[in-house]
Amino acid sequence: MQIDEIAKWVEGLRAGFNSGKTRPLQWRRQQLEALIRMLEENADALIAALQADLGKPRPEAWAVDVQVIVNETREALRNLGKWNRPKSVSTPLMAQPGRSAIMRTPLGVVLIIAPWNYPVNLLLAPLVGALAAGNAVVLKPSELSAHTAGLLARLIPAYLDPDCVGLMEGGVPETTELLRQRFDHIFYTGNGRVGRVIMAAAVEHLTPVTLELGGKSPCYVHKDADITTSSRRMVWGKFFNAGQTCLAPDYCLIHEDVYDEMLEAMTNRIREFYGEDPSKSHSFARIINERHHHRLCELIKSGVPVTGGESDAESRYIAPTILTDVAEDSPVMQEEIFGPILPVFRVKSVREAAKFINSRPHPLGLYIFSGNRGVQDELLENTQSG
Ligand code: NAD
Repeated sequence: MQIDEIAKWVEGLRAGFNSGKTRPLQWRRQQLEALIRMLEENADALIAALQADLGKPRPEAWAVDVQVIVNETREALRNLGKWNRPKSVSTPLMAQPGRSAIMRTPLGVVLIIAPWNYPVNLLLAPLVGALAAGNAVVLKPSELSAHTAGLLARLIPAYLDPDCVGLMEGGVPETTELLRQRFDHIFYTGNGRVGRVIMAAAVEHLTPVTLELGGKSPCYVHKDADITTSSRRMVWGKFFNAGQTCLAPDYCLIHEDVYDEMLEAMTNRIREFYGEDPSKSHSFARIINERHHHRLCELIKSGVPVTGGESDAESRYIAPTILTDVAEDSPVMQEEIFGPILPVFRVKSVREAAKFINSRPHPLGLYIFSGNRGVQDELLENTQSG
C-alpha cells in the first residue's frame, strides 16, 4: 500500500464498522471460526515462514505461534455469549427508579502493532479479543519478520471480512502515517522506545493505548533449590526462540552455596538439549537479523563465557552462552538482552538478590527457584515486577 492511500483505507474500515456489521455475535463467531480455519489450513506454511524468519524449531513454531492462538480463539468462541452479556448492577439513589447495567460495546476501529519475535501469536492474540468484542481491526505486523508478514498479508483478506479487518505491511514510514489516523484503541507490543512514539501519537486523538513492553527479567536460585529441575527450566526458558522472548530469564542471581553446582548443571543441560554443537541442532533458533546479531556479539564481550560464546554472522547463529565475571554496569546489564546470553552473578542471600533487582527498572517477570515459602514471599514482597 502506498503511504498516501493509508488514510482512505482506514476510513473504509471505519465505514465497515459504522455499518453495524461487526455488532451481531453471529459476525464475530464467523470471523473467529474463519481464523481457526486459516491457522489450521495453513499451519505448514506459517511454520515455514517462521523458520525462514527466525529458524524456529517446528515444535516451537507450531505450539506457540499457531496452536496457542487456535486454543485462544476456541476459548473466545466458548465465552462469546457470556463475555458480551450486559451485567446488571445496583442503581444509585439519584437514578432510582431506573435500572443500571454495564453494557459491553465495541470500541470501534482498533490498531494492533506487533513485533517480530512471535510474529503470528503477538499479532493474532490481540485480534481474537478485538473480534470477540465486535471491533473493526487494522493489523500491522513487524517488517523484520518479513516472510511471516507477507504470508499473513495474503491469508487475512482471504479468510476474514475485508470490510472490517485489514492488514498493512510496512516499516517506520508506513506505521508513522498509520498512527496519524484516528483509532479507538491501539494495542502495541514491542520495545519501550517505540512505545513512547505510539503513546505520543495516541495523544493527538486521545486514543487509549495498551503497551506490552519488555525489560530485564531476573531469576533467583536459592540455596535450597532443586538444581536438576532449576537448571532444566532455566535453560529451556532462556534459550527457547534463542532468547528472543519478552519473558525470557534475562540474568540469573545464584546463591553462593549452589553457584558452582548450578553453573555445571546448566552447562550439562545445554549439551543435553542442543548437543555438543548447538549450531547443528534442530531445536535452536536463529537471531532475527544482522543488526541484532551484531548487537548480541558485542554484549558477549561484557563477560567470560563458561559455555558458548561462538557465533556465525552468515547464519545469524549465536551459541547458548552463559557469562560470568560480568560487571554490574557493563553493557549486557544496561538493556534487555533479547538473545541467547545469560549473565550469572553470585549472591550471598535473598536480601542481596532483592537489592540487586531493585537497583534497576522494575522487570516484566521475576523467577524464584526455591521450595521455601518464606524465601519466595521475601523476594516477592521486597521487589516489584510485572
Ligand atoms: P519491532 O522492531 O518489530 O517493533 C515492533 C513494531 O513497532 C513493529 O511492527 C514495527 O514496525 C513498529 N515500529 C518500529 N519503529 C517504529 C516507529 N518509529 N514508529 C512506529 N512504529 C514503529 O520489535 P521490537 O520492538 O524489537 O520487539 C522486541 C521487544 O518487544 C522486546 O523489548 C520485547 O521484550 C518486547 N515484547 C514484549 C511482549 C509482551 O507481551 N510484553 C511480547 C513480545 C515482545
